[in-house]
Amino acid sequence: MNKYIYMDNAATTKVDDKVLDVMLPYFKEEYGNPSSTYSLGVKARVAMEEARAYVAKTINAEDKEIFFTSGGSEADNWAIKGVAYANQAKGKHIITSKVEHHAVLHTCEYLEKKGYEVTYVDVDEFGMVNPKDVEDAIREDTILITIMYANNEVGTIMPIKEIGEIAKAHNIYFHTDAVQVVGVLDIDVKELNIDLLSMSAHKLHGPKGIGALYIKRGVKIDSLIIGGGQEKSRRAGTENLAGIVGMAKALELAYSDNTERNIRLIEKRDLLINKIMEAIPHTKLNGHPEKRLPGNVNVSIRFIEGEGMLLSLDMMGIAASSGSACTSGSLDPSHVLLAMGLTHEIAHGSLRLSISEENTIEDIDYVVKTLAKAVERLRLMSPLYEDFIKGE
Ligand SMILES: *Cc1c(COP(=O)(O)O)cnc(C)c1O
Repeated sequence: MNKYIYMDNAATTKVDDKVLDVMLPYFKEEYGNPSSTYSLGVKARVAMEEARAYVAKTINAEDKEIFFTSGGSEADNWAIKGVAYANQAKGKHIITSKVEHHAVLHTCEYLEKKGYEVTYVDVDEFGMVNPKDVEDAIREDTILITIMYANNEVGTIMPIKEIGEIAKAHNIYFHTDAVQVVGVLDIDVKELNIDLLSMSAHKLHGPKGIGALYIKRGVKIDSLIIGGGQEKSRRAGTENLAGIVGMAKALELAYSDNTERNIRLIEKRDLLINKIMEAIPHTKLNGHPEKRLPGNVNVSIRFIEGEGMLLSLDMMGIAASSGSACTSGSLDPSHVLLAMGLTHEIAHGSLRLSISEENTIEDIDYVVKTLAKAVERLRLMSPLYEDFIKGE
């Protein structure tokens, strides 16, 4: 098999050719610094502001509310630390969930060491946050609620509108990590009462190393990167112009047909889920069956180590993930699956396949066939499976 099947689009995506095309001039002829006042610089600034306006429009924000960052992690860090530092006179309590991306979770843990208090709300068996739990966690000194829009491991789409309403009613800032959702679902920050929103280009066929933080006008927030006056003196550093232009193009392409694309992806996603369930016994779907990202499949396959499965798939030309890219390589089971109530054993045997439009029905058939064979072989070597069979 010489074809390479990439089913790890939640980790990163391939840059679209059309995105690369609009970026290239900014490495070549249009290399000006957007802060320079001569014409090369002015052209760079115009391109940057056009891109900013485009990014703003896609989430119904104003141009002045979009700040470019180096990606989703920086946007998450900035939103959480920046609000925590700027509002400590009001309080030092933050509410988040147990299933956030590490860019949020580890930032909250860092702030706990600095004297802040954090409530990590539970999720249900589908990985869903209950808005009531968020409301119950609110205290006098709560300054920020940060809940992701959709989970990167199990694909569960959170009740963001309800949480936004709660935050607004209590006059608390609401940040959402929307990295997995931007370019997939329509987002309106006004309708959803979102004060801060993180996005990243490389999850939607844009380049790596560029993202943005939406900061609603009037939100009190400190800067993390200090230096020159770029980004209205709130985020220093010469702008990643090629990345910025590429991100705007990636957004344009993503939103040009997202409704139809989602329908096609959901069809393929459900086909993949059903075929895995049919072909492999003792398998369970993780995440919500319906409130789920169109490209996300996450299954637990009992009596198997996720790492062994990934290796077998890789040898057969298939790229997948056993959790988030950050956790693979370590032997800790996914914090998301554990928060959903899975045992260590079952969490260890989990596999995430995140598909894109490039994946065909033939790809799906090949992946299921290959996976079923790998599982059969791995189970024959599994002492847990042997015990299970004897017990039956
Ligand atoms: C990928 C991802 C991030 C990190 O974004 P980077 O641009 O890679 O720093 C943050 N949150 C979620 C939900 C993600 O999927």
